[in-house]
Amino acid sequence: MPRYDLHSHSTYSDGLLTPDAVVRRAALRGVDVFALTDHDETAGLAEAFAAAQDVGITLIPGAELSVSWEPHTLHILGLRIDAANAKLDAGLASIRSGRDARARKIAAGLAEAGIPGAYEGARNYVTSEPLISRTHFARFLVESGYARETKDVFKRFLTPGKPGYVKHAWATLSEAVDWIHAAGGVAVVAHPGRYKISPTGMRRLLGEFRDAGGDGIEVLSPSHTPAQFAEYSTYARVFGLAASCGSDYHGPGEGWLDLGDLPDMPAGVTPIWSRW
Ligand code: AMP
Ligand code: MN
Ligand code: MN
Ligand code: MN
Repeated sequence: MPRYDLHSHSTYSDGLLTPDAVVRRAALRGVDVFALTDHDETAGLAEAFAAAQDVGITLIPGAELSVSWEPHTLHILGLRIDAANAKLDAGLASIRSGRDARARKIAAGLAEAGIPGAYEGARNYVTSEPLISRTHFARFLVESGYARETKDVFKRFLTPGKPGYVKHAWATLSEAVDWIHAAGGVAVVAHPGRYKISPTGMRRLLGEFRDAGGDGIEVLSPSHTPAQFAEYSTYARVFGLAASCGSDYHGPGEGWLDLGDLPDMPAGVTPIWSRW
């Protein structure tokens, strides 16, 4: 049974390793089928393909799209996308284009809370110009001693109600699904257990997602507890969605799960790769 890891990041978004390095690490850790899914970006895929060919693993081209749904920000993975597709490319460019102005607003909020220079500070950690993200602010805030670790920093500064949180309009759910489909890919709701959504809201979301043509949900994710592996397997079955798995790897020392470190897919779900 091949080992799948279908969610990861590189220096083209908020990961710490280059696409080349992340693919080589995946191969060393026994991953057979590996997806690079940078936030709102596909520019790392050419380098990832070259590395995957070199080490003999299968590279699934992907991206993780930022979406606004009701008051929430969601992440929708596009897997097996054609990165050259003009519709997807324009859609991703439109999502990326809002990030710099948002970052300046985040910095303004932090300045009001007594933390000056956060825009420039976060920029020092940015490895791909348009892709300034909250992760880069988090790294700056930790390095500057405002918080001890990344988890802390999100809770205290970067989540709704906190000084460095800015409401932002990303893509809509149906846009994200349409762009992914236009590019020949499958659309997967990333880490559903991470959203602050009630059970009723989750059913509404998954219903809308399925009606928009969505394909799957991430069942195995480091954002989920083992109980949530079971819970989201049930959601997948009930809504007729396939199940995906990914480490959401961002680099050494970030997060608690390394590449390929995922349990087996629970029984009774349809793995997303069976729809390929
Ligand atoms: P952004 O797209 O700029 O809103 O940044 C989102 C990114 O921040 C996610 O992809 C994660 O990498 C990171 N992130 C969000 N929430 C947390 C958290 N609670 N702990 C650690 N990283 C987080
Ligand atoms: Mn991230
Ligand atoms: Mn995500
Ligand atoms: Mn991710």
